[in-house]
Amino acid sequence: MICTNCFEAEYKPAKTDMTVDIDGRKHILRDLDCEACPTCGEIIFSHQQSLEIDKKRIAFQFGEKPLLTPDQLKLLRRVLDMNLEEVCNLLHIGRNTYGRWERGEVAITPSMNLLIHNFIERFPDARVNFYVEDRIKTIEKANATLLGRDISLGEYLREVMAATRLLPDVVYHLTGIVPDDWKRIQNNEMEPEKIPSEMAGKVAHFFRLTLDALEKLLNETWRITSMKSSFTAIHARSCCHGVGGLALKESSMNKIIEKVAQKRGNAPIPKTVSKEYLAKVKAILEEMEKAEG
Ligand SMILES: [Zn+2]
Repeated sequence: MICTNCFEAEYKPAKTDMTVDIDGRKHILRDLDCEACPTCGEIIFSHQQSLEIDKKRIAFQFGEKPLLTPDQLKLLRRVLDMNLEEVCNLLHIGRNTYGRWERGEVAITPSMNLLIHNFIERFPDARVNFYVEDRIKTIEKANATLLGRDISLGEYLREVMAATRLLPDVVYHLTGIVPDDWKRIQNNEMEPEKIPSEMAGKVAHFFRLTLDALEKLLNETWRITSMKSSFTAIHARSCCHGVGGLALKESSMNKIIEKVAQKRGNAPIPKTVSKEYLAKVKAILEEMEKAEG
């Protein structure tokens, strides 16, 4: 067939690359069969060649989605708040299939993998827990409001978790900080510099906090922890016993003190976080960023 662009020569079989958009990201499909004009370089695709490109594109889309791990499949069920039977019904799969994937007995099939990824992408609450890019975007959006306020680290963490809809389990898992330590930080139970610098680094890294932002939060935490010591006398006289009661009291007392601190407004912070401590956190943050590449 003669070139419809220059009318100088016949098209000849050739190979070409093509950029395609898959889920908002650009990918290059290489070595595609095409017909090219040797004179002007015009490229056309026959019907058959177009079909082959569609097939490659679909294969790419399947391959692009990493296979969901057993942990992620369990997480999905927690996000959806569904039991095994409900999730199997939802996906129209055999009663035991999902359980076998979750236990890692059988790998999920590529088509179900793609289906579940597509499914996750429709739910903002699921996306933030599953995909790192969504997580970062959502956290940064919450930070834009939260970091403008005079709040302690504990209060910040509670607020950012609520605002982003991150699941505690996901945060424990991804930061490697155990639930008990999280609760102690969230309740401002530790004086700022008693929080191990490595833990502070992990928190700052995960929640995209700059060293300055962390410093401000920790200074506000000093305000709370120092007020707490003056509340201890009342605390000791109240009548709750047992570990459960104690944990509950820690969190409710912390909230009361936060309220009092807010009412006092701009009273000076009794103590600030030392430069030495911040330098240690900075080193940890830099190490974590380097490890990420
Ligand atoms: Zn031509």
